[in-house]
Amino acid sequence: MEFLKPQAAKTNPGSEDHYALTRRHMVEEIVAMSRETGAYKPRPISAKVLSVMAKVPRHRFIQEGSVYSAYYNRPLPIGHGQTISQPYIVALMTELLALDKQDTVLEVGTGSGYQSAVLAEMAGKVYSVEIIEPLAVRAAKLLGDLGYANIQVKLGDGSKGWPEYAPFDGIIVTAAADHMPQPLVDQLKPGGRMVIPVGGWSYIQELILITKDQDGMIHQENVLPVSFVPLTGGY
Ligand code: SAM
Repeated sequence: MEFLKPQAAKTNPGSEDHYALTRRHMVEEIVAMSRETGAYKPRPISAKVLSVMAKVPRHRFIQEGSVYSAYYNRPLPIGHGQTISQPYIVALMTELLALDKQDTVLEVGTGSGYQSAVLAEMAGKVYSVEIIEPLAVRAAKLLGDLGYANIQVKLGDGSKGWPEYAPFDGIIVTAAADHMPQPLVDQLKPGGRMVIPVGGWSYIQELILITKDQDGMIHQENVLPVSFVPLTGGY
């Protein structure tokens, strides 16, 4: 296993010590990757986000058959043709939201529930919408079992947002849209931030950071090329 460092070999695979150690190595990889920005603006990942990445047990969100690779810095299948995102991308998207403990966040695409757990460590309340029923059910149960009382998961089309709880301080879309969903822009608070991969479903999209200023004006910044599964639904 090329990712594991020698000390990892001294822990018992499957033990909590082993997961904690491999999780720390994953965080080191995230830091290294955040420095390799090439032509893109450097986006350092804050100590606060890194400590959350070092805490949330990603191995609990992975399918049984691939648990051994839970802390590799790569996306993994979660069933139903969907994936849990690469840890670096989870950290980067979380960082871009610049959350604090009073904030309310909307996540579109609950998937495994891992990103929801990371957000719940940073924000006051997380509303997460998933369109595939077995994924929504599994994530809601697991997040409850792990004690995340500040996450609410709903089965539905998240491209329409969640109007009952809008406006949101942060919105994160974890599937690729072929255009910016207007309901999500409308549900962002003045001063709020949204991160969303946009650009069609042909494997490469652009990760976009949207900020809404106090006058309701929208500002858009291209962050990085990314590759996400498609955002479905009727937006
Ligand atoms: N955040 C997830 C995690 O941590 O595991 C990863 C999500 S996966 C890359 C994208 C998810 O978006 C899939 O579970 C997919 O079913 C969901 N999705 C796609 N279109 C959606 C929509 N319109 N509303 C809600 N969820 C949607």
